[in-house]
Amino acid sequence: MDLVAPVVVEPLRRRRCSECHQGPLERMIVEFNAPVCLDCADLGHLVFLRRGDTALTRRAREASTLWAVVVRHNRRRTRYERQGLLVEEAALAEAERACLADGEARAARRARDAVRRAARDAEITEVLLAEILRLFPSCPVDRATEIAVHASAKGSGRVGRTAAGRSLDRGAVTAAVRASVRHVDTPYDSLLMHGIPRHQARTRVAPAIEAVLLTWRRDGGATSGRGRG
Ligand SMILES: [Zn+2]
Repeated sequence: MDLVAPVVVEPLRRRRCSECHQGPLERMIVEFNAPVCLDCADLGHLVFLRRGDTALTRRAREASTLWAVVVRHNRRRTRYERQGLLVEEAALAEAERACLADGEARAARRARDAVRRAARDAEITEVLLAEILRLFPSCPVDRATEIAVHASAKGSGRVGRTAAGRSLDRGAVTAAVRASVRHVDTPYDSLLMHGIPRHQARTRVAPAIEAVLLTWRRDGGATSGRGRG
C-alpha cells in the first residue's frame, strides 16, 4: 500500500488559515510552511476519530477513500504524536456497524461456549458420580451427587476437570469423598472454628472419617474386595 495520507496538525499556538484567514484553527495542514484550514485543504468533510479503538480505526480507514493522520507536537518529547484519524463519515458509520456486529458475534460465541461447558460439566458430574458409587457402593446417592457436583464445579474442579475428564484418578475421587465426610460427618469445621490447628483437627477426626468410608465401601455383600486407595 503506497498511499500517502495527508498529515493534519493540531497547532499548539493560535493559527489562522493562510488562504481564507479563518481561525484560530483547531486542525490544519501545513503547505509551504503556511497553515491551511481543512476546508481550504478539501478535508473539511472528514470527521475526527480519536485513536484508541484499533479495530474501529482500521475499518474506518479501510472504508475511507480519503483519510488523514492527525498529529500534535509534543514539546517535551520533541516529536509529533498521533492523535487519531480524519475519516469519511459514512466510512466511520460502516466501521461502527461492523464492530458492533463483531461484538454481537463474540457475545453469541460466548453464550454457545457456556452451553457447551455446562454440558461438559454435567457429563463430568455423571462420570464422577458413577465412579464414587463404584468405589463407595453404600454412599447415599444424594451425598454422592453432591460430592460429584462440587468436585466438577468450576474452581474447585481439580478432580472434576483433570481426573474425570480423561481417566478417573481413584485417589482424587477418594480424596473428594473424604473431604466431604470430613466437613459433613465430623466436627472438623467446628474444631477449626474453635481455633484447633488444621493438622491437629485432621488427626482428631481421621478415625471418624475412616469409619464412614468403611461403611460406604461395603457393597451389601456383592463385590467388595477392593483395598483402600
Ligand atoms: Zn481556509
